[in-house]
Amino acid sequence: MKPDHLGIGMTSQRTRERLVRRLAEQGIRSEAVLEVIRTTPRHLFVDEALAGRAYEDTALPIGFGQTISQPYVVARMTEALLSGGVPGDVLEIGTGSGYQTAILARLVPRVYTLERIAGLIQRAQNIVAELDLDNVLFRHSDGEMGWPAKPCFDGIIVTAAPEEVPQTLMAQLAPGGRMVIPVGQPGRQELRLITRTPAGYQDITLDRVSFVPLLRGIL
Ligand code: SAH
Repeated sequence: MKPDHLGIGMTSQRTRERLVRRLAEQGIRSEAVLEVIRTTPRHLFVDEALAGRAYEDTALPIGFGQTISQPYVVARMTEALLSGGVPGDVLEIGTGSGYQTAILARLVPRVYTLERIAGLIQRAQNIVAELDLDNVLFRHSDGEMGWPAKPCFDGIIVTAAPEEVPQTLMAQLAPGGRMVIPVGQPGRQELRLITRTPAGYQDITLDRVSFVPLLRGIL
């Protein structure tokens, strides 16, 4: 890692190690996921004024009324997405800071990420490039309709909550593919893992979660 990527003091490797230990204690089992969290500089994805809090296990504001997801939630969603094997093409709805995008890009071959707020996607794109991750495609659009030019994905991860699972996204799941998605009204959301099987869709609930809502249109 470059020196400013490594961080010092509250953004140092030691601070990342502590976060990873806490995630393991909370039940994250995947060594691959823990390793990328250990070596991905989350402090670069938040405002400098908040960098000292980047390795607390908490969501933080990233501007435009949005938040970078809590590390435990990023770990849990990524682990669930990879639990049936490493998916080839992954669609992410809600790029936000780009932190979840970067974690995914280090674990799967290709990431397609969509964000409705132009200011956020530009920033995320710059940091992902700065980290030398070249397997991510960015798109400024409303993600509810999926990625128009590509009909199906092995994995879909949604980082903002719709009230119900969008049918378009279900249809964009390849056979054997998995989708991790928070669903429900603010304050009453659950994280669901949906797997497309030959017999139909298997749907299990993983956790209670709190996400910003999935909204329509672009900004
Ligand atoms: N994974 C991100 C989470 C950001 S919060 C991170 O850790 O930083 C969720 C993001 O979803 C916000 O940036 C919000 O603008 C975006 N979003 C909400 N509705 C959307 C939609 N319909 N299409 C694309 N992005 C959407």
